[in-house]
Amino acid sequence: MFYHSTRDESAHISSAEAIIKGLAKDGGLFVPSEIPCLSADEIKTLADKSYQERAIMILGKFLTDYTQKEITDCVEKAYTKEKFGTNNIAPLYKLNSKEYVLELWHGPTCAFKDMALQILPHLLVTAVRKTGVDKEIVILVATSGDTGKAALEGFADVSGTRINVFYPSDGVSKVQKLQMVTQKGNNVNVTGVNGNFDDAQTGVKKIFTNESFSSLAETHGFMLSSANSINWGRLVPQIVYYWSAYADMCKEGEINFGDKVNIVVPTGNFGNILAAYYASEMGLPVNKFICASNSNNVLTDFLNTGIYDKNRDFNLTISPSMDILISSNLERLLHFASGRNCTETKEYMAQLSETGKYEVSEKIKEFLKQKFSADFADDTETKETIRKVFQKDGYIMDTHTAVAKAVYDKYVSKTKDETKTIIASTASPYKFSGSVMEALDGSDGLMFGKDEFEILTELSEKTGLEIPASLASLKDATVLFDITCEKEDLEQVVKDFLRL
Ligand SMILES: *Cc1c(COP(=O)(O)O)cnc(C)c1O
Repeated sequence: MFYHSTRDESAHISSAEAIIKGLAKDGGLFVPSEIPCLSADEIKTLADKSYQERAIMILGKFLTDYTQKEITDCVEKAYTKEKFGTNNIAPLYKLNSKEYVLELWHGPTCAFKDMALQILPHLLVTAVRKTGVDKEIVILVATSGDTGKAALEGFADVSGTRINVFYPSDGVSKVQKLQMVTQKGNNVNVTGVNGNFDDAQTGVKKIFTNESFSSLAETHGFMLSSANSINWGRLVPQIVYYWSAYADMCKEGEINFGDKVNIVVPTGNFGNILAAYYASEMGLPVNKFICASNSNNVLTDFLNTGIYDKNRDFNLTISPSMDILISSNLERLLHFASGRNCTETKEYMAQLSETGKYEVSEKIKEFLKQKFSADFADDTETKETIRKVFQKDGYIMDTHTAVAKAVYDKYVSKTKDETKTIIASTASPYKFSGSVMEALDGSDGLMFGKDEFEILTELSEKTGLEIPASLASLKDATVLFDITCEKEDLEQVVKDFLRL
């Protein structure tokens, strides 16, 4: 197996090289030359394996240039009881006789980005070592909140790496800011940027494209890299939990081995649902993939019409991690659906960057229609869903998971489909506690002006659920980074951090 760009199949590289490079030079995304299958016997053995053993098996199928020992080491460092609070890394909660909630938020930052960002640093360090690069990796991240903290948690104290996160000083919530500025680790740096998210992002991009900076860093033994969500090393760990959920359902007798399930995913950048799709190409029995969007519903329209059109208003919603108009990972699905046609994929992406719009071929439209169902839920529907699920089943969903549940309910009322269904749950309700409290109370603006820690306590009293320790402890944690910089000065910050 080798990897190549979605826009050009000529260059053949290993998975380690794909993980180091992140993005192909032509702007395309790296894809494996084939999708490996699990045999019926292998699928059966998954039921009796731990999450870690399942991960070792699935990752080994894709990262064929890594040794079994290397993969085992990465998995054992990433998915620990210490970091996830339980050995059951991705537990499945049975909501009712048909619906199963796959909880992907037991990691250190209470959201599903941990599933990939806890292991990526280890995959990356191993890749660097394997390919003979003799440099310390420096990760630079511009964040609007969640990714920065998840990356800090993933890279903290991983030897051979350093990480500098830049956040907009006024653009993140109080809890998000505290999560970052109290980060421990001897290789981390956190800096506020006086400006908005775009200023932080532009500043980081400037450093990446400044060749004299890269060569200065290199002469001091450093190599710049990013932990971007289109890196293959972030996608492949996400395939594992769909297999794990299926194995748990077989083990608990909820389905028979070979039965099909539906998978519903609250979608933004299309990474999570693409991982589910790859699992099905490996042999996971799936009936429908249900793609759930919030009112930024560019994917709903695309999957229903075959026309992708990002020329529309951008909405700020109560599910901010899905407020996206360009879903980068969709390019990997297009490549696959076109019959691995790099020229065709490249053409769609060129149209997207020139006009913000493209229409796929009849063949791809047919493919999408067969496999996917898509719909969206606005903020009102999302809040209603949170309240309804709590009243009926006593279960609390966060605002992103509730988008998935709302869309699933619409799907069932339209199709009467009785297939058992996995709903991907991407964040702890505590991560978005203000909106969740408003949803439960059925009133808007209730939380206005309230302290975020007060809201955490109120949510806990209302639901009887314990506040996750990583959030509760923030209130009294020591602030370790109180430095902010001007938007022109990011490069100087990194120079000081690396002592260049
Ligand atoms: C990132 C994120 C999503 C969207 O996932 P994609 O892989 O980008 O589709 C959904 N929910 C939460 C809480 C997230 O952090």
